[in-house]
Order: sequence, then structure tokens, then C-alpha cells
Amino acid sequence: MSEYDYDLFVIGGGSGGVRAGRLAASMGCKVGIAEEYRYGGTCVIRGCVPKKLMVYASHFSESFEDAKGFGWNVGESHFDWSTLITSKDLEISRLEGLYRKGLSNAEADIFDTRAVLEGKNLVRLINDDRVVSAKRILIAVGGTPWRLDGLTGSQLCITSDEVFQLTKQPRSIVIFGGGYVAVEFACIFAGLGTKTTLVYRGDKILRSFDNDLRETLREEMVKKGIQIILETTPEHISQSEHGDGSLKVTLSNGDTIDTDQAMLAVGRKPLTDQLGLEQAGVERKPSGHIIVDEYSRTNVENIWAVGDVSDRVPLTPVAIHESMCFIETEFKNNPTTPDHDLVATAVFSQPEIGTVGLGEDEAREKYAKLDIFLAKFRPMKHTLSGRDEKMLMKIIVCGETDIVLGVHVLGEGAGEMAQLLAIALKSGATKSDFDRTMAVHPTASEELVTMYNPSYRIRGGKRIG
Ligand code: NDP
Repeated sequence: MSEYDYDLFVIGGGSGGVRAGRLAASMGCKVGIAEEYRYGGTCVIRGCVPKKLMVYASHFSESFEDAKGFGWNVGESHFDWSTLITSKDLEISRLEGLYRKGLSNAEADIFDTRAVLEGKNLVRLINDDRVVSAKRILIAVGGTPWRLDGLTGSQLCITSDEVFQLTKQPRSIVIFGGGYVAVEFACIFAGLGTKTTLVYRGDKILRSFDNDLRETLREEMVKKGIQIILETTPEHISQSEHGDGSLKVTLSNGDTIDTDQAMLAVGRKPLTDQLGLEQAGVERKPSGHIIVDEYSRTNVENIWAVGDVSDRVPLTPVAIHESMCFIETEFKNNPTTPDHDLVATAVFSQPEIGTVGLGEDEAREKYAKLDIFLAKFRPMKHTLSGRDEKMLMKIIVCGETDIVLGVHVLGEGAGEMAQLLAIALKSGATKSDFDRTMAVHPTASEELVTMYNPSYRIRGGKRIG
């Protein structure tokens, strides 16, 4: 009989926590898991999954327009917000059920409560008002949107937590931020017919991405009618004088905008306050992120942290991978460190971004010789649809080793392409490997294997040709 109630207790029922809990329980370990909101976490309940469903919904307006060039007459179309939200909610509940089922089939104890640490082996279950003991504890509590508390009127704004539950489609929205969430929701709302304004403090949206992607996406978003205001921040937000619940947004450039909704998409912070970390002796960074070693172990030897609560790559598949490495290391006697190199990512903007590896600027800092292959073209579909939309593909190659350092795609299917490109880059593909790969015709992605000559070269930081 173990001296502990549990071999493993997981705090947080999101993608990372559920995966670790289910795997450990299916190996016969006694596992408890606690979630204060809904199983599935941010990704499933109010993040990637419902967002992607809304992205699909928002594409239809352009599909109806594009259809005309192919001979279709689709007649009058009308979008109903509440149908989308209801259907989306049903699907999310189904997925939440699957997460719970996976845990219960593996015989993990599932708790619907906030849980906090009370010592290095003790967890208090708040709703149950009791304390359980665990040999090992995994913290997988994720993060929450920043709400810019210092901004006057910030409480009038929604964030990505509330956007999925709006009862009415806003006629207009102002979105603050220039990262994943801001860009994706600007495109969703614009596609659904909401008058959309994006306000970003920097000079180009999507800071960590390749500059050609950033610039071309901005141009395409503007063509779709999204107003993008750069180098500007919100000054304050108040109720408008109209008395209809709409808002007045005042910007740092002095402009004011009347809008139905304002959304803060200015990043996320880890949910580590009042989690009992001090009682357990777990150390945090000034940002609040839990400090972990290369095996996801905290400074307390029986406590681990995975996913967004640790300051690594805040993406769902990465959290799941970190959990699987934790299980290998701790339960299968196979020490495994998560691999955070060459993580592909997609931004479900319109057009979409798919990217893996280094952008040109990052590559310039690391490599003296680079060959850059760049193609910007009108995709075949738009020859008949008549849509003025460009696709972009860019390959960054080390001029000394011929190794492909980064590939960046903007356009339809870019996210799907990034997944496959990541396999090539993880395998150490060279540009010659791309060149000797037969094209799939007619596709847009064939461009990736038919750009034989560099568009330009970089030598010692200087662009040549
Ligand atoms: P991001 O970190 O992507 O973007 C935050 C944005 O807010 C940046 O543009 C940032 O500007 C801006 N910002 C930060 N602080 C302020 C401030 N005080 N005033 C004004 N602007 C500010 O965060 P998101 O919330 O968009 O997304 C969170 C994370 O979720 C992402 O990093 C990503 O990992 C994940 N995610 C992934 C998705 C996907 O895989 N498709 C989709 C959605 C989210 P600056 O650039 O100047 O710092």
C-alpha cells in the first residue's frame, strides 16, 4: 500500500494535463486530475478548436463570391451567428466528453474543482474541501488572456475567453494586438461581415514571423476590408453616448472609434497566482511562468510542469509532447527531453500562414551565407474567381551547407503544407533534396520544389542580387 493517495496528481485538465493523466492511469498508476473549468482546456473549449470552426464559417462569404467565376449563381446568402455558436458549442461539448471518457476509461479519478498545492506532496481540492496526497504532481494549468488592467475601460473589452460566447454578432469590432489571436479573429470577424479594425502597437503585425509573410498578410487583410492601424495603442475605452451598449475607443493617435465590441488580444499570462507554489517551494520567473529543467521538472523534485505554464513554446502539440516525454522519463524509465527545435506553426489568418524554421532576419543573425528563394503569385483558383489575392512561398537556405533553414507559406492550405514541410526540415533536408523532388501538378505547393534559382543571396548580412 502506497503512503500516498495517488502516484500522480495532475492539476489542469487541458491538452497537456489530460494526456499525462490518461497515459499514467492506463499504465496502472493511481491518478487523480482536477480541472476548475471544463476538461479540454483552452485549446478545446475556448481556443484552437472553436476558433478553427469559426474560421471555416468565415470562409464561406468569399467562397460564395468566388463561385460566380466558375459558373455558379449562389443567390442571396445570409449568416446566422446563433446557429454557428450553437453548433460549435455542441461539438465542443462532444469533445469535452471524449476527454473525460479517455480519463475515466483509464480509471483516473476526475475532479471538477480548482486544486492548489498545500505542500510538495499535498493538493487541496477546493470544492471538495479536502486534501489529497500524491507521490508526483504535474502542473498543467496553462494561461489566461492579459486584460491590460491599467487601461481605463479594459473591463468593457472582451478577450478570447468571451469571444466564443457572444450572444450576438457585433456589427463592428476593434481588436487590440498583432499576434495570433488578434490576426485570426480580425479575419474571422471580417469574413462574417463585421466591420473590423485591428490596432497594433508595432510597425508590422505578427512580430516573430518572416517579414515577407507579415507584410504580404497585412496587404491581403487590407484588401479584405480590415482596417489596420499600426504604431498605435488604446488610451481608454468607455460606453458610447448612444446608450445602446456600444463603446467609444480612444487611441494613442488621438482618434476615436465607435464600435459594438472591443477585444483585447495582447497575449497571455500563466495561471500561477494563488496556486500554492510558495507552500510547495516551486520557483517561478518574474513573468509568473514556472521554472523547469529540460525534463519539465521544477526545482522541487517530485513536481513537474508542462504546457503554457512553463515558458517554452506555447502551442497545444508542444504541451502534449512535453507530457509524453514526462511519462517516458518518469513512468517508463526512459529519460526523454522534449524537442522544441523546428516546431511548425500555422496562423489561421485569411490567407493562412504555415511556417517552419528560421525567418530571414533570424537566419541572417546566425548564418553568413544565405540563399533566399521567393515566389509571390496568383494561385490558379483565382484566375477564374477573379479574386485579387496573392500566395507567397519563401525558402531560406544555408549558403554553405545547402540545408533548408526555414520555409514560409502564405495562402490556402499553408497550415497543411507546414506540417509536411516540418518532416522534411526535421530530417535535415537540403535545397537539392527539394529540387530532386518531383512536383505534384497542378498544385500551389509545387512551387516549393520548382524554385531552382535563388531570388537573392545574403553574404555577410548584405543582400546581393
Ligand atoms: P501573441 O503573443 O501572439 O500576441 C500578443 C500581441 O499583443 C502582440 O502583437 C503584442 O505586441 C501585443 N501586446 C502585448 N502587450 C501589449 C500591450 N501592453 N499593449 C498593446 N499590445 C500588446 O499572443 P496571443 O494572445 O495572440 O496568443 C497567445 C498564444 O497562443 C500565442 O503565442 C500562440 O502560441 C498561441 N496561439 C496559437 C494559435 C495557433 O497556433 N494558430 C492561435 C492562437 C493562439 P508585440 O508583438 O509588439 O509584443
